[in-house]
Amino acid sequence: VKGDGKKREVDLSWRELPVNKRLEHALVKGVVDYIDEDTEEARLGFDKPLEVIEGPLMDGMNIVGDLFGSGKMFLPQVVKSARVMKTSVAYLTPFIEQEKSKDDDRSKGKILLATVKGDVHDIGKNIVGVVLGCNNYDIIDLGVMVPADRILDTAIQEKVDIIGLSGLITPSLDEMVHVAREMKRRNFKIPLLVGGATTSKVHTAVKVEPQYPGVTVHVLDASRCVGVVGTLLSDNEDQRSDYILEIKDQYEKMRKQRAGQMSAKQFLPLAEARANAFKLNFQDYQPPRPNFTGVKTWQTYDLALLRDYIDWTPFFSSWQLAGKYPAILEDQIVGTEARRLFLDAQNMLDQIIAGNWITAQASIGIFPAQSAGDDVVIFAAEGREERIKTLHFLRQQRQKAPGQFNLSLADFIAPLESVPDYIGAFAVTTGIGIEKWVKKFEEENDDYSAIMVKALADRLVEAFAEHMHARVRNEFWGYANESALTANDLISEKYQGIRPAPGYPACPEHTEKKSLFELLEVQDHIQMELTEHYAMYPAASVSGWYFSHPQSKYFGIGQISRDQVLDYARRKSMSITEAEKWMAPLLNYEPE
Ligand code: SAH
Repeated sequence: VKGDGKKREVDLSWRELPVNKRLEHALVKGVVDYIDEDTEEARLGFDKPLEVIEGPLMDGMNIVGDLFGSGKMFLPQVVKSARVMKTSVAYLTPFIEQEKSKDDDRSKGKILLATVKGDVHDIGKNIVGVVLGCNNYDIIDLGVMVPADRILDTAIQEKVDIIGLSGLITPSLDEMVHVAREMKRRNFKIPLLVGGATTSKVHTAVKVEPQYPGVTVHVLDASRCVGVVGTLLSDNEDQRSDYILEIKDQYEKMRKQRAGQMSAKQFLPLAEARANAFKLNFQDYQPPRPNFTGVKTWQTYDLALLRDYIDWTPFFSSWQLAGKYPAILEDQIVGTEARRLFLDAQNMLDQIIAGNWITAQASIGIFPAQSAGDDVVIFAAEGREERIKTLHFLRQQRQKAPGQFNLSLADFIAPLESVPDYIGAFAVTTGIGIEKWVKKFEEENDDYSAIMVKALADRLVEAFAEHMHARVRNEFWGYANESALTANDLISEKYQGIRPAPGYPACPEHTEKKSLFELLEVQDHIQMELTEHYAMYPAASVSGWYFSHPQSKYFGIGQISRDQVLDYARRKSMSITEAEKWMAPLLNYEPE
């Protein structure tokens, strides 16, 4: 550690600079301490308070933008700069309002951002808002779970220039298609931006863009949004139309390419895929009998116990710093910023734990269970007489190389009429009570801390899942004795069994979370719920199944054919249209 981790001598020589340079320094370095007095001094030097924003503040933010654009500054620093900017603007606002000047239209354009209906994730969207805000766009952020009507009504009322949609779970893809259709129906002309973890360029090209005659652009991450928005709202007519043509052309090519690919790929009829299932040998293997069956819940779990289970690598990527922890702390390029960010994270984590900022709750269960084809039947008790639930899994249908199987998670559970087996389930959250803190930080113009507390809650809930899984293996199911495993071994999954999560590749269909929540009596015991699109609320929540078999592993279902959709719809007593809707990203055909 080269001093960055420790308390450093604070160099205040920049305080001697002229006020413009001090503002620039504060913005670039993200120092909020002197911003009010410097803003006041700058204000007194100008005729109008607005000139402070248009002059030194914008100059400073332009430098920040250039440094970020050229990779010399990183996202956490930009977010801290935004805080300085917002604080300064907040200081000036009363003066600007006093002046009642009509010409306060300093914005380069108005952008509406929303996480679509049924989805609750917003870290990425908030980052986009901050980054665009820094670049002088007016941001209207409608938050999470926003229905199409509200997005479009607001867009009209507020005369926005661009709509940006965000989503993390796969049902959000379909919701975005719906918004695009609505934009066409209501005669919108403004650009539509699509982003978020579940989205992709291909999906945007194939599903969203054809719905809306206006321009639709997929934005990979926050670092791209300024360029895209800048071009779309550019005064330079040629530049703008060239870009739009290029995008449309690119997406058209992707659609063609994909149509070609889809027909070229080989899929097995469902019956043949089932015949090529992964057949475990349950003659010579006794599934471990759990120490306990039924449901267990925790209303307040000690957060301090979870800290050591945190996997830090995804934390850095949520702040767009690339690299693996702990090596990232010594990285040539991002190391300095990674160390700073990590220190801030540790400090906030101390406060979260000491001050009980959030409440961790959990529900787990282990149940007698047997597979029946691609289903898993769950029984009330060991006698396996009363069936209480049937879980529905999917099966890979793509043709496999010889010796490879067409997997379903059901393959990892012993079939009916063989040996007694079990399946587990879990639902954990560390998001209860977080909103108060997010709101407090946002009111203080402190987006950095607002994003930090959410990113840490996300880390804690994954850590909770890891911790609880370890307890289940060692204690409640009790098939393992892992006293020798370190936290790192856990993060790299050096243990027997898996915890696949509905919505993820091995069980990508989200509605099965309903069965999971019912089995665990989530509603009765803990404050977690499912949205109408089966996202979990609070956002910092994780749920999934426990499989104990030593050969159980993660895999992806990939695409499936219509015969499996029909079969699945029948098994779930769903209409085919509904099944196609929930599985839209999986289909190897265009549904009617
Ligand atoms: N240590 C990581 C763990 C999250 S990703 C973190 O802190 O972010 C790993 C989890 O995602 C798994 O435990 C499982 O719940 C889920 N998962 C990963 N791959 C999966 C797959 N192919 N199918 C189903 N679930 C999967």
